[in-house]
Amino acid sequence: MGELMKGKRGLIMGVANDHSIAWGIAQALHAEGAELAFTYQGEAFGRRLEPLAKSVGSDFIMPCDVEDIETVDAAFGELADRWGSIDFVVHAIGFSDRNELRGLYADTTRKNFTHTMVISCFSFTEVAKRAAALMPDGGAMITLTYGGSTRVMPNYNVMGVAKAGLEASVRYLAADYGPRNIRINAISAGPVRTLAGAGISGAREMYNYQQRNSPMRRNVTIDDVGGSAVYLLSHLSKGVTGEIHFVDSGYHITSMPVLDELKA
Ligand code: NAD
Repeated sequence: MGELMKGKRGLIMGVANDHSIAWGIAQALHAEGAELAFTYQGEAFGRRLEPLAKSVGSDFIMPCDVEDIETVDAAFGELADRWGSIDFVVHAIGFSDRNELRGLYADTTRKNFTHTMVISCFSFTEVAKRAAALMPDGGAMITLTYGGSTRVMPNYNVMGVAKAGLEASVRYLAADYGPRNIRINAISAGPVRTLAGAGISGAREMYNYQQRNSPMRRNVTIDDVGGSAVYLLSHLSKGVTGEIHFVDSGYHITSMPVLDELKA
């Protein structure tokens, strides 16, 4: 247990269960002394979150569905009432109709395109605006993205387009809030077996492929992502903003599959 986050308070959005990337981040922040609040989407997730939150010393959990802006306002209202100010936010939220996370991107419907964009991209901007209002002395926020934003991954489809928009939002928000010493960054995680990850057709093949072909020959864990999140949310990264930080065992630097016959 360290003290990198001692005296810091923040909000974690996106814990669905103990496999969630947000949960790996919450545990890492707690281990460094942070005080945590959580939001959940719907009662079933709330029931699952309660004991998890308790295990990291938090009884501060609030419902929030980012499709319903009133619930976002209510959650930030509760944060303001109870804590007054916050130091960090973790946005680990994404959704698209799984029927469109397969086949051709060209077949994406207007309805699902809009829905995916609002939840997986624009919600970060709406959250950042409300969080910044509670950061009078500066702060840090992160969101979660994936390499399908800049390179085509089979079946990732409209989520890739949403993540490209999300990454651009990170840069624009970093420019907006930099003068107030509020830093905005993203972690681009390699594939992790989660509820959301399982919605992508061929997720298992993608997972195995990246394991075989990453420089480190392994997939990342939610603990790996948690460590980088602590860096991006603590003073250790006080000069860093607008970055897309890869936690993917180096997969994004490769240009072709590992071929045993080419190895010396
Ligand atoms: P997860 O299923 O554990 O978490 C996704 C979360 O999004 C859930 O808690 C869910 O409740 C929340 N969510 C969805 N719609 C919402 C809404 N309308 N309002 C509020 N919350 C909503 O899966 P995860 O993989 O931990 O996903 C977290 C983030 O990480 C997502 O942005 C995802 O795209 C990103 N990511 C995942 C991977 C991966 O391989 N799993 C890789 C890179 C990035």
